[in-house]
Amino acid sequence: MTHRYFVETPITGDRARLSGPEAHHLSGVMRVKVGEEVTLFDDGGAEFLCRVEQLSKHEVQLAVLSRLEINREAARDVTLFCALPRGDRQKRLIEQSVELGVRRFVPLRTKRAVVQPDADVCERLRRGVLEASKQCRRNRLMEVSEACTAPPPEELLPAGALKLIAHPGSNLSPSAAARAANISPTTPIALLVGPEGGFSDEEAAAALAAGWQPVDLGPRILRIETAAVALTAWAVGEW
Ligand code: SAM
Repeated sequence: MTHRYFVETPITGDRARLSGPEAHHLSGVMRVKVGEEVTLFDDGGAEFLCRVEQLSKHEVQLAVLSRLEINREAARDVTLFCALPRGDRQKRLIEQSVELGVRRFVPLRTKRAVVQPDADVCERLRRGVLEASKQCRRNRLMEVSEACTAPPPEELLPAGALKLIAHPGSNLSPSAAARAANISPTTPIALLVGPEGGFSDEEAAAALAAGWQPVDLGPRILRIETAAVALTAWAVGEW
């Protein structure tokens, strides 16, 4: 299997060019040589088998050998509105969201959050998306939107989405909520997962008033990233 690199400029012809950190990763870290083959993706859905023609530390010129249309996206549009944990757990949350096929990740600003997502944090999350996409061979990048407050305003939701808020003690399983709403395998689902301290009473009440259905993930209290991953795996529903 060839190594994968992300190219920001969409590939349209028989040449491609890598620059910046991706060029450095290819030449300086992976020590790829002229004549070797690598895979490029450009967030357009396809991947490209390419041969390295010229390289320096800062720039790599490649010949495009073939374009492969490989759809690795989930059929369902899942948007995850999620409070952020700290450090490595934040990295894992992003990695697993990409792997599971979340289409859009929106960091949540909540009253009890330990990490308030500013522009630097969002930028770090986007770098995590790139790394995870290279690893899991996804050809489209999970979008990381600007942070929003809880509950998210309606205009940030996909049209017709089933809206589920993870709230311990709700006594309604996600499957029961989906059955009651009679959703199809392609109905979009929006998920709302709270911070370590949980949603405040005001946030939870506002979410319920806005039509979010509270769902329960079992009798144990899960950490943010565990709750997000469990709910996402269920929502994507690929197995
Ligand atoms: N003390 C907090 C509470 O009772 O809400 C626990 C917060 S938990 C560490 C972080 C988030 O994960 C929660 O706000 C909720 O969205 C989700 N969560 C964790 N365990 C859950 C469960 N058993 N059922 C539903 N949601 C859960």
